[in-house]
Amino acid sequence: MIILKNNQLVQREEAIIDMEDRGFQFGDGVYEVIRIYEGKFFLMNEHLERLQYSLTETGIEFDIKKGKLAEQLEDLAEKNQIDDGAIYIQITRGIAPRSHPYPTEAIPTLMAYPIPISRPIKLQESGAKVILEEDVRWLRCDIKSLNLLGNVMAKQTAKEAEAFEAILYRNPEHVTEGSSTNVFIVKDGKVITHPANNFILNGITRRYIHHLSNQLGITFEEDVFSVDELLNADEVFLASTTSEVMPVTQIDDYTIGNGEPGSISRKLLDEFFKHVDTDQIR
Ligand code: PMP
Repeated sequence: MIILKNNQLVQREEAIIDMEDRGFQFGDGVYEVIRIYEGKFFLMNEHLERLQYSLTETGIEFDIKKGKLAEQLEDLAEKNQIDDGAIYIQITRGIAPRSHPYPTEAIPTLMAYPIPISRPIKLQESGAKVILEEDVRWLRCDIKSLNLLGNVMAKQTAKEAEAFEAILYRNPEHVTEGSSTNVFIVKDGKVITHPANNFILNGITRRYIHHLSNQLGITFEEDVFSVDELLNADEVFLASTTSEVMPVTQIDDYTIGNGEPGSISRKLLDEFFKHVDTDQIR
């Protein structure tokens, strides 16, 4: 496998990380996962803009446009002959003697490489089972940070319950998102999802679903909903780069709707691919 390390394409074996890289010691870095369908990056600009947002918010000095990252990623995908898959990109604050404050002289470390991914078609057809978990993460979930321990622990609990995902709530009145997905409910024909603020990651797929809803004439609302409203929704679905639109049919012991993927969830999933070619949200 060929990977991108800083500005160079090198063999995977050469992608050595220094012991004092702050990503390794503090989780001091940010990342993105960009999907590739039929050899073409999907919504790359939106992902790179969000990566720049995460970098700016964390004060990591890295200019994506200046660094020509888009071109380098195209090159990386081509060298690895990726037709259907994804690219993982992470940028850390760099290497410095261990000390909490931002070092003045560190140069950010960039690593990007392909990750194998395929469409979760079977589960999209049957609908997924999920669990509820308390959201114990920090209050800057809008930053796509490498600090994923809260997400990792929630996903592990889901895995142990043989569930696809853990839907997180701050308190019974406030459902936020999944451990690696955004959460949507459908009530009386309306799609409702958490507002894009510090409690969630503003998913690129979430934004794409907003765009698709507008095109289909489906009302899309940003509003906080409760655990009760979640369990009593007509439909529930998740969205992310890797799970696309994922209908949810069971939450803990509760069946959602009639236990089958709902019609609006299905419509959005069907519509998803009609626009992959045009590759833009606005
Ligand atoms: N929320 C969290 C916590 C995530 O990790 C992800 C996956 N990156 C998402 C939402 C969905 O974001 P996207 O649609 O950009 O993949």
